[in-house]
Amino acid sequence: MTGSAPLVAVIGGGQLARMMAEPAAALAIPLRLLAEADGVSAAQVIPDQIVGDHTSLADLREVTAGAAVVTFDHEHVPTEHLRALADDGIAVRPGPDALVHAQDKGVMRERLGALGVPCPRNALVESVADVEAFGFPCVLKTTRGGYDGKGVWVVESAADCAEPFETAAASGVRLLAEELVDFRRELSALVARAPSGQAAAYPVVESVQRDGVCREVIAPAPDLDPELATQAQEVALRIAGELGVTGVLAVELFETRDGRILVNELAMRPHNTGHWTQDGAVTSQFENHLRAVLNLPLGSPAPRERWTVMVNILGGSDGAEAPGRLYDGFPHAMARDPRLRVHLYGKDLRPGRKVGHVNAYGDDLDDCLERARHAAAWFAGDLGNESE
Ligand code: ADP
Repeated sequence: MTGSAPLVAVIGGGQLARMMAEPAAALAIPLRLLAEADGVSAAQVIPDQIVGDHTSLADLREVTAGAAVVTFDHEHVPTEHLRALADDGIAVRPGPDALVHAQDKGVMRERLGALGVPCPRNALVESVADVEAFGFPCVLKTTRGGYDGKGVWVVESAADCAEPFETAAASGVRLLAEELVDFRRELSALVARAPSGQAAAYPVVESVQRDGVCREVIAPAPDLDPELATQAQEVALRIAGELGVTGVLAVELFETRDGRILVNELAMRPHNTGHWTQDGAVTSQFENHLRAVLNLPLGSPAPRERWTVMVNILGGSDGAEAPGRLYDGFPHAMARDPRLRVHLYGKDLRPGRKVGHVNAYGDDLDDCLERARHAAAWFAGDLGNESE
């Protein structure tokens, strides 16, 4: 029983890789990081690292040399490089055939449509005439490269289509038209799946977005019809199985006003809507991601608490760049709420930038919401007048 764990290479030095390091340390799983620059979020906590470019096969080969498994902080590694690494004998998790569905919304829609998974009505469009035929109002999305609401437009007329088509042409990607869903709220169904086929489904959560950015997550989603919750978990498990996903899969969903769920998009890595699991579930999404990519038995996704609320800390509206101010917030935040859990990413506070999150848990949802919102606003510098 002295064997050491296999080396896991992680591509991308953002906060998701950083948060994988915590369970990796607990389980003595060695990580080696490909960071985009010195000192980025994960590079601060994973000492075995190289600085390089995830679009360079040479850099990918350097970081995976001697690794058993490679996994990801983001979805941007080119498919042909993933195939080359697999040919080198590295277990690529998730693999290229699964990951393409998180990289390309056109491919994702086509596959989910073929599987009969409920999605918004959609079509690839090549001209404004195609969009007119699809029908206004609708949503246009670039098939690749979008994030945090960038690359998504609600269009109501031919004139509105100019910018989306210009953006798509400039980056050489296709445009997808989708019906404008009149949703009640956004939900997320998160599962982890190992190559063995074992899978674990977390409780379905509500995610609150503002300007295309996830701001709050409530676990579990309040007042969700239990049948709809089961359906959402089944859809996520089915997608993970059919696509052969290994690791965490987040399925972002719309709950429509008439009580249906529709899939919005897929992410194949730990996801912002799963950060609550660090403090609110028996096994965090980061630990289950590592277990899954190593084909280990998965940990329980069961909640530890009645409610867990996650609120992201985003740089505030005052425009101040304030390295160090996050730490200055500790005395007040910690004294006010000894049960609050704070997770910072080692990033400087800049307007609109996600620099951390807080998790508050307990038996009373309103109390959790108040505590988490207060702390996040405090750290963001949006409660300046309340300081002592
Ligand atoms: P991203 O890749 O930037 O996360 P998404 O496809 O998730 O892009 O879209 C961002 C946000 O835009 C969604 O969270 C949702 O609020 C809104 N949105 C996306 N698609 C639709 C749609 N078909 N109908 C209504 N709103 C949508």
